[in-house]
Amino acid sequence: MSKRAGVLALQGDVPQHLEAAAAVLGGDRVLEVRTPKDLEQVEALFLPGGESTTLSQLLDKSFLRVPLTSRIRQGLPVLATCAGLILLARELEPTPHGRDPEPLRVLDVKVRRNDYGRQADSFETVLEVEGVGKDIPAAFIRAPRILSVGSGVQVLSRVREDPVIVRQGSIWGLTFHPEVTGDHRLHAAFLRASGLLS
Ligand code: GLN
Repeated sequence: MSKRAGVLALQGDVPQHLEAAAAVLGGDRVLEVRTPKDLEQVEALFLPGGESTTLSQLLDKSFLRVPLTSRIRQGLPVLATCAGLILLARELEPTPHGRDPEPLRVLDVKVRRNDYGRQADSFETVLEVEGVGKDIPAAFIRAPRILSVGSGVQVLSRVREDPVIVRQGSIWGLTFHPEVTGDHRLHAAFLRASGLLS
């Protein structure tokens, strides 16, 4: 059977990622992942944006934290957007007033939450992404800022000086939302690089 991709379906932009992945792969190859058993069925995973503290708690409640961390460490390709990226980070800058999520620490970046956008600063722009396109639309919604990246992390795109797409082997991290723009080229590039699409 053809390999299937999953969307972590605990909270956040789940329908939009399901739609984007299904547009690229076909709906029968896309699964919602809510349990460790679901996770076993997929060969690539999208981690949606949403609210990272809530997502972190839901990962524990659904018993996904340990199996997800170990599959990612074993090489499961993941594309994480916004809150999803926060969840993968090695380090979070502590939020002054508020609770922070407990990240999985599998992606060697340091991140500050809610940096582009106390609401009003959320914005859309167009990115040049090597190997993907010169005009990829990107929506930044109370987006995290990547403050530093480790030596094994490639930066695939920047806005001004800031990395907005990073890649560490099979792990892709995006500070914005490609799933709300109707442009599926980043989903396709990730699935192609992950061996799910020829
Ligand atoms: N501000 C959110 C957080 O900290 C992330 C925003 C998003 O995913 N759009 O979790």
